[in-house]
Amino acid sequence: MADRPTGGYPPSLNVLGFAIDHTDGKARLGRLTTAHGEVTTPLLMPCGTAGAVRGITPAQLRATGTQMVLANTYHLMLRPGAEVVAELGGLHRFMAWAGPILTDSGGYQVFSLADRRTVTDDGVVFRSHIDGAEVALTPERCMEVQRLLGADIVMQLDECPPASAGREQLAAAVRRSAAWAGRCKAAWEAHGRSARAGHPQGLFGIQQGGTDLELRAESARRIVDLELPGYAIGGLSVGEGPEAMRTVLETIDELFPAGKPRYLMGVGEPADILAAVACGVDLFDCVLPTRNARNAQAFTWTGRLRLRNAEHARDPRPVEEGCPCYTCRNFSRAAIRHYFQAEEMLGPILLTIHNLTFFARFTAAIREGIAAGQFQQRSRQWLARMYPQRPQR
Ligand SMILES: [Zn+2]
Repeated sequence: MADRPTGGYPPSLNVLGFAIDHTDGKARLGRLTTAHGEVTTPLLMPCGTAGAVRGITPAQLRATGTQMVLANTYHLMLRPGAEVVAELGGLHRFMAWAGPILTDSGGYQVFSLADRRTVTDDGVVFRSHIDGAEVALTPERCMEVQRLLGADIVMQLDECPPASAGREQLAAAVRRSAAWAGRCKAAWEAHGRSARAGHPQGLFGIQQGGTDLELRAESARRIVDLELPGYAIGGLSVGEGPEAMRTVLETIDELFPAGKPRYLMGVGEPADILAAVACGVDLFDCVLPTRNARNAQAFTWTGRLRLRNAEHARDPRPVEEGCPCYTCRNFSRAAIRHYFQAEEMLGPILLTIHNLTFFARFTAAIREGIAAGQFQQRSRQWLARMYPQRPQR
């Protein structure tokens, strides 16, 4: 039986089931139940930035073994507009994806992409990168937009300080993000269900604090006090380096309640996923599998392959021997290299299929390793194969 959250929100909002079936050290094998089905964790969500995982159809996406996808609130609220998506039946209908969807809050993009933004305690005002129009994003509007989009998991609005931020700026972002989490919770409790389809949505709070462990602890305490359905670790993988990231991650198991899912935002490098799973993280999202595919780079169990390299020009082998994906069953490295050289769309499509299949198989292997109580040993073997040049820890 899934553990239903019993936090201080109405029973009608007990929306996410999360059950842990095995632990191995701090690593957790879990099941997350949403209005659009159950997924097994740890898992990685590919980015469906504008309501599509670039280059492939939802049927192809499903065939890669992908369980759940992320869509970007910032992009969808600017174009085509959250109201339009709601009018058309909500995001699941719009993007023809029947599985679970998570929408981010838009905060990260506002802080990294948008022009001329002004942050106050009320929210953030910015200029759209599309037409320069002035847009206001408050915690309440952020919840409304995500309610209109209708994902299964919605994220609080948070302030994302740059990697170069000093302690004072980080502390201010922690306090502002915590206050916004409270306002998001109030707005979420008032509705809690997607606008069009009416299914329940689970709200996650976001921890900030950079690499400052005291601020990380304060941030976690403030959002955990709100008793939300899940918690995310934000503000990492912004250039702090793997050692600093690990130092922060090593503290999360004691900061967050065991029975709630934990989501590390923006992380997808296999070595970072392994380090985070070892610290008790359940969910990931990253653009790496799809973005690198478009740049002719394939992920494999023996490291990355650059398919533009001349060495593949006559290579009849698949991208990865033994990979069950459509690409590896049907195409040689030589053919894929040719498509990239000739700028055929099929090149990026084929590698997107392979890379998403790789991450689905990689996370499935992590889950099997946890179930078998072998996660650490297997992790070391995978790292040695994937990163042969790197000194092993
Ligand atoms: Zn493959």
